[in-house]
Amino acid sequence: VKKKISIILPVYNEERAIASIYKAIIVVISGMPEYLYEVIFVNDGSVDNSWNEIKKLSQKDKYVKGISFGRNFGHQIALKAGYDSSSGDAVISMDSDLQHPPQLILKMIKKWEKGFEVVYVEQIKRRDGVFKRVPSLLYYRLLNYVSQITIPKNVGDFRLLDRKVVLFIKSIKTKSLYLRGLVPWSGFSSTSICAEYSDRVSGKSSYTYWKMFKLAFDGITALSLFPLKLAAIVGAFVVFTGIILLLIILIDFIFYNSWYPLFKWLATVTYIFVGVLFILLWILGEYVGKIYEETKNYPQYVVVEKTNLE
Ligand code: UDP
Ligand code: MG
Repeated sequence: VKKKISIILPVYNEERAIASIYKAIIVVISGMPEYLYEVIFVNDGSVDNSWNEIKKLSQKDKYVKGISFGRNFGHQIALKAGYDSSSGDAVISMDSDLQHPPQLILKMIKKWEKGFEVVYVEQIKRRDGVFKRVPSLLYYRLLNYVSQITIPKNVGDFRLLDRKVVLFIKSIKTKSLYLRGLVPWSGFSSTSICAEYSDRVSGKSSYTYWKMFKLAFDGITALSLFPLKLAAIVGAFVVFTGIILLLIILIDFIFYNSWYPLFKWLATVTYIFVGVLFILLWILGEYVGKIYEETKNYPQYVVVEKTNLE
């Protein structure tokens, strides 16, 4: 039987890109008749004509499928909806603004056929300005530092996933989804191919600074409890310096007969207690973190392969 490739494309106000991305994909697909295909557009609450464009395509080509949200749920959730309704043996996600060159599809499939369950496309030369590039670089440094997994940098949401990985993604029900972390977290075998991304065909990026910040924050909080532990650092520092302070005035008082007014003693003791409070906050944070981990409801582990077992 022929294997099937699903291509999922989140769409947010891309009315002028849809027809061209479809054409570009079809050109590639017609060059690989050994595979079946489906192209799934997920309209993430566009306010332009995107959904009509998608429906027009789906009337001409029955392998074009569409899902439409009534409002904007965000890129990650749009991708999730695409994964949820895909049925391919491999699922490729890409932007619908033609920044992710469809010619790479074939290369990705070849890697997948070699046995890799995840194929990333790494951007070798980033086109974004310094204001996007530098924060992004620092951010991935931080993310890799605070999480126990390695998140490939310069890799967006252009990737191929084997059905096994897609099944895992489908099982995840969290609302603040961070696929760029979730995929490496699952531990499936991965590889990447390097390529240059293109410029957007039309319109402008809908990733405002606010959306990027939200995604960045979702990434950190999804992958690590590090922010919760910050209170411990503050607490330890305050308690430590407070005790030194107290020792200094104690020694001064006992051995050098210095006289300290009550408020100075009180200030020092209060200072130490502020530190203690921070430590208690951290302990509380640890429990909140546990609750958070449980409510995320991730599976405890992900099995990549089995032998002699069903
Ligand atoms: N997108 C989406 N929902 C959003 C924002 C973006 O579905 O809220 C889609 C968008 O149509 C595009 C992809 O996600 O196909 C990437 O978005 P964009 O090109 O704006 O981001 P950039 O490439 O600048 O990071
Ligand atoms: Mg883009």
